[in-house]
Amino acid sequence: MMDEARAVLRNLYGYNDFRGEQTAAIEATLADRDALVIMPTGGGKSLCYQIPSLVREGVGIVVSPLIALMEDQVSALQQLGVEAEFLNSTLSLQQQSAISQRLRDGDIKLLYVAPERLLQPATLALLENLDIALFAVDEAHCVSQWGHDFRQDYLGLGQLKQRFPDIPLIALTATADGRTRAEIVERLQLHQPEVLIGGFDRPNIRYLVSPKQDARRQLLRFLQGHAGEAGIVYCMSRNKTESTSDWLSKQGYQALPYHAGLPAELRAHHQQRFLREEGIIIVATIAFGMGIDKPDVRFVAHLDLPKSVESYYQETGRAGRDGAPSEAWMVYGLQDVVRLGQMVDSSNLSDEMKRFERQKLNRLLGWCEVTRCRRKALLAYFDQEAPDECGNCDVCLSPPRTWDGTEAAQKLLSTIYRTGQRFGASHVIDVLLGKENEKVRQHGHETLSTFGIGQDRTASQWQSVLRQLLVQGYVFADAERFGALRLTEASRPLLRGDITLELREDVVEKVVRKGKSAVRRDIELSPADEVLWETLRECRKRLASEQNVPPYVIFHDSTLLQMVELKPTSKNEMADISGVGQAKLDRFGQAFIDAIEQSFMSMDASVSNEEME
Ligand code: ADP
Ligand code: ZN
Repeated sequence: MMDEARAVLRNLYGYNDFRGEQTAAIEATLADRDALVIMPTGGGKSLCYQIPSLVREGVGIVVSPLIALMEDQVSALQQLGVEAEFLNSTLSLQQQSAISQRLRDGDIKLLYVAPERLLQPATLALLENLDIALFAVDEAHCVSQWGHDFRQDYLGLGQLKQRFPDIPLIALTATADGRTRAEIVERLQLHQPEVLIGGFDRPNIRYLVSPKQDARRQLLRFLQGHAGEAGIVYCMSRNKTESTSDWLSKQGYQALPYHAGLPAELRAHHQQRFLREEGIIIVATIAFGMGIDKPDVRFVAHLDLPKSVESYYQETGRAGRDGAPSEAWMVYGLQDVVRLGQMVDSSNLSDEMKRFERQKLNRLLGWCEVTRCRRKALLAYFDQEAPDECGNCDVCLSPPRTWDGTEAAQKLLSTIYRTGQRFGASHVIDVLLGKENEKVRQHGHETLSTFGIGQDRTASQWQSVLRQLLVQGYVFADAERFGALRLTEASRPLLRGDITLELREDVVEKVVRKGKSAVRRDIELSPADEVLWETLRECRKRLASEQNVPPYVIFHDSTLLQMVELKPTSKNEMADISGVGQAKLDRFGQAFIDAIEQSFMSMDASVSNEEME
């Protein structure tokens, strides 16, 4: 049966080899076993249940929490020529009964259904009389009451194994620590499941993190490397998403805000445009994301820090599901460090939870300041090994310089101490710089021995020192006293000179940005190929609007790029391109071959024009 599975992979999807844990997941399901599959976003979870559904007798039932996601998957499958449908509340009664009939006739190979619909007695009764290939539970972490995506409806899915004990059930998720994993197995009542954990690495995502100076200017520069590409910009507050998206629009970008305070209709409209059109930037709070299955999100930018490494990983994971080069960019500054800490401290969480949240935040801040490969540090957080250098993060691409910050730290700590540990960052830095302003005079701080001892550095350099001292725990910002800076236990040996301190030099935008778009970052296109690339994109856009599907459902960027490289001019050659399966070859192959030939002709024409002159 594995041979059949491989044939489906090649002929239907047009891919050459299985990735990572796909083989094991498919093998388990084909052998009637339950499985729990944990793979990062973009790892290829869908194939793990789609292929066994196609190879086995009967229909594969896929439980999926979000309607938009279901619809996308179904239209992608239909484009491949697979009999796939979904059942949800958007269908008319007539449409629903037509689908039920086709199910009874055995005409449907994959059925997507929301959990609440699946658990209705009528649906269960319908299923009892069908030949079922397997059950797949997508986003399986939604059964976990500990996780942040808990869905009541998911709890009822435990019934499936009771009612259909002999039918293999495969549960899939991108996020699961040990506890959630155990919870999934228990609540879905998986029977001796094959547990398959894929690597967390997302090699096509380039991680870029830098200190915040002029965030908007920095963002603009970053966006220059993403002309015409789709991306998400995350902000902390609703207001900021709106002001940022207005501002981006004025700069000529197609930007739309998204947050929980917008009317549901407008929100849905913005999401739809993001999915359907190319090159839309969504400026959002974290309300945006879950179930965004758009494979060609080329960047995720954070203007504000997320609250933990997990959140960061999840949010940035929405970039580059199609495997093509993508970027995760973030800026953070002293203010974020102070404010986020204060938010935790002044929340109404229990003391234990506060400590827990603080720890998580500190891990993230520490990660921001790393001086070794960012990817390795990120994977280490998830207990995964990685080579020392990835070559695809800001640290590897341009290693930060470090300097001996002991003396600077001592100056700063003394100033905090001598001003009575009652002031926030800006006053302390004013004293260091010897600024004689009103507040300084009011407290008589111009007479302190530390007044003006920091004139060898600029204000922003002192901010950098302070930020790093905060992150490393040498200074504490007291939320109950409006962010007043205090010394900690750890400050003492540093002040006494018993230990030394390495600091990172802040350099903004170290990574040279080549090219106008991320997806072509590593490939230099000739001017002629540039034209061809645009022609192929046009062709894709036309077909997509004819079919009323998003462009990526026709072909992914990576598939188009291969066409640019290999310039197939026959169906045989076209079939060799990854992502071109039989159905798409039949339906769209010729259109793209024509586009390629046409661009040859216009090239010849321009060459002969030149010869004529
Ligand atoms: P996930 O659900 O894990 O986020 P998907 O199943 O959507 O990921 O797959 C991500 C992308 O990778 C899809 O575009 C899919 O077609 C592609 N893909 C999956 N498996 C393979 C493979 N074996 N070879 C090439 N591309 C693959
Ligand atoms: Zn690296």
